[in-house]
Amino acid sequence: MIVVFKKDADVKEIESLKESLVKKGFHLHESHGENHYLIGLVGDTSVIDPGVLRAQRIVEKVVFVQEPYKKANRRFNPDDLVVDVGGHKLGGGFFSVIAGPCSVESKEQVVSIAKSVRDSKAGMLRGGAFKPRTSPYSFQGMGEEGLEILLEAKRITGLPIVTEIMSVNQLEQYHSLVDVVQIGARNMQNFDLLKEAGKINKPVLIKRGISATLEELLMAAEYVLAGGNSQVILCERGIRSFQKDTRNLLDLSAVPILKSKTHLPVIVDPSHATGVWSLVEPMSKAAVAAGADGLIIEVHNDPDNALCDGDQSIKPDRFADLMVVLEKYIALENKTLN
Ligand code: PEP
Ligand code: MN
Repeated sequence: MIVVFKKDADVKEIESLKESLVKKGFHLHESHGENHYLIGLVGDTSVIDPGVLRAQRIVEKVVFVQEPYKKANRRFNPDDLVVDVGGHKLGGGFFSVIAGPCSVESKEQVVSIAKSVRDSKAGMLRGGAFKPRTSPYSFQGMGEEGLEILLEAKRITGLPIVTEIMSVNQLEQYHSLVDVVQIGARNMQNFDLLKEAGKINKPVLIKRGISATLEELLMAAEYVLAGGNSQVILCERGIRSFQKDTRNLLDLSAVPILKSKTHLPVIVDPSHATGVWSLVEPMSKAAVAAGADGLIIEVHNDPDNALCDGDQSIKPDRFADLMVVLEKYIALENKTLN
């Protein structure tokens, strides 16, 4: 981190700031230019709040040399993280597909979809019991009953379950029941929830917020990692755009960018990213080619009558065909579907 001082900055104030930084354990490298006086801080700058430094009247600007995320940073974790969910792995050459309905609607629905996607080589079952809906009048999910249905489907099929948890209370109550805790796009910067997710012993799938930068996504992961939970999976699920043909804009370049910046597995959600079922196949293939470690795909047995996201859900037989094609793409990337 480099701190640039204002031209007319009071020398005594500069000295006192420097002293406080040395006390914090930093080595200071000074540089006197013709127009500027600056110091470079050498040490773990993650302990400093740059806003506090910036707020000092003597400070012109604070420039980062390194990224503000440390635990999520590939610089300090060169090897890919492999997240193992009940024997299904994501990252480090392992590719897994998470499939299932947007929302849990009934036991028959979830069990029949679960059996079908398992037979098509999905590695995990998804399904929302607690649903973050834009309208308070839309279906809000089955809640605890929905979780029980997911657990029943897990007992029958052996598939680990991935489900969204929306609040700190729900996390405390239910995290032990699920295999992967999903933190949704709308909650990506719910810092209390992220902090609590840092304390649990379950992988956490963080979906990118609809207007979040990649750095903000990585900082959300940093919250969980800083709490002591190292098992974090990132998900690109489309961002806001002016374009109306799709629900969101799939930011595919986020995948290789994230993979270069972090050791965490990165997956893609082509269903929410496009909002259009016919785009799920091409965008899934593209995600594999872009270097994703997995996919999360909405599959519904009766999309026309789905209580949530029917437009973007594919039917189980289409999912089966898609998986046959994807397996070839995954092999081409030297990855193993599991
Ligand atoms: C979901 O996965 O069903 C969901 C609501 O996703 P997102 O948070 O990405 O909108
Ligand atoms: Mn959905």
